[in-house]
Amino acid sequence: MKLQGKTAIVTGAASGIGRHIALAFAREGARVAIADLDRTAADAAATEIEAAGGQALSVTMDVTAERAVNDGIDACIAAFGGVDILVSNAGLQIVHPLEEFSFEEWKRLTSIHLDGAFLTTKACLPHMYRSGRGGSIIYMGSVHSKEASVLKAPYVTAKHGLIGLAKVVAKEGAQHGVRANVICPGFVRTPLVDRQIPEQARLLGLSEQTVIRDIMLKETIDGQFTTVEDVTEVAMLFASFPTNALTGQSLIVSHGWHMQ
Ligand code: NAD
Repeated sequence: MKLQGKTAIVTGAASGIGRHIALAFAREGARVAIADLDRTAADAAATEIEAAGGQALSVTMDVTAERAVNDGIDACIAAFGGVDILVSNAGLQIVHPLEEFSFEEWKRLTSIHLDGAFLTTKACLPHMYRSGRGGSIIYMGSVHSKEASVLKAPYVTAKHGLIGLAKVVAKEGAQHGVRANVICPGFVRTPLVDRQIPEQARLLGLSEQTVIRDIMLKETIDGQFTTVEDVTEVAMLFASFPTNALTGQSLIVSHGWHMQ
């Protein structure tokens, strides 16, 4: 098993991509903390892991609230004795033309992605440094960490920012064996995207099918959504990579939508 004896904290793990990563990490032997705002769904994910013979902890956490993050990470450390892997994944999407974004929406979106990544990283690093085992910090970026789309100003801005954060963590963490990476998925059919399809259709005056075909999947090489399985494979690679060779790197997993 690739993650035997490891401890992982996955934020936003009650749904979508984070949930799939958490379950896969547990199948590979990790003890996994499901950290999410949604307590009921987080409990359900933890129960599913335990029913399959794994070890899990459900932690209610708003990643934008410093106290909640610190208390949540402390609870994980108390339960598991340390943290080897952080997947900073909690996220949200709101779509508007830039001039229609309220400042509140801008702050909410950038805060979930950037403050959430900063606060969880800050809370985990001292434990990784002290353990002498180092660790792996994985940020859930997006193709929008590399490329822009209309209607997504705060999301694109925040996802680009995660690349910078990961590079700093890679440099500062190196002497302690802590690696940092960003996964940059294309569109994945999760509740986050399912909510966007009708919103974009309304804002752009298109049918939902057209939004899927001509906007979301237009630039892919096969007209396919990226899957939670695709993204989880990359998370597993970064989490289990045996050396520092990939630290600071971001990897686009998008069926060719964006190539670098
Ligand atoms: P999702 O809506 O299925 O899951 C997001 C989870 O984050 C939910 O469980 C939600 O409760 C949680 N969350 C939201 N705000 C939170 C907060 N403040 N504190 C703690 N938890 C919070 O979405 P998803 O598609 O699985 O997205 C996961 C990540 O992947 C996000 O960062 C998103 O930007 C990124 N991403 C998604 C896609 C896609 O197409 N679905 C593509 C690229 C990147």
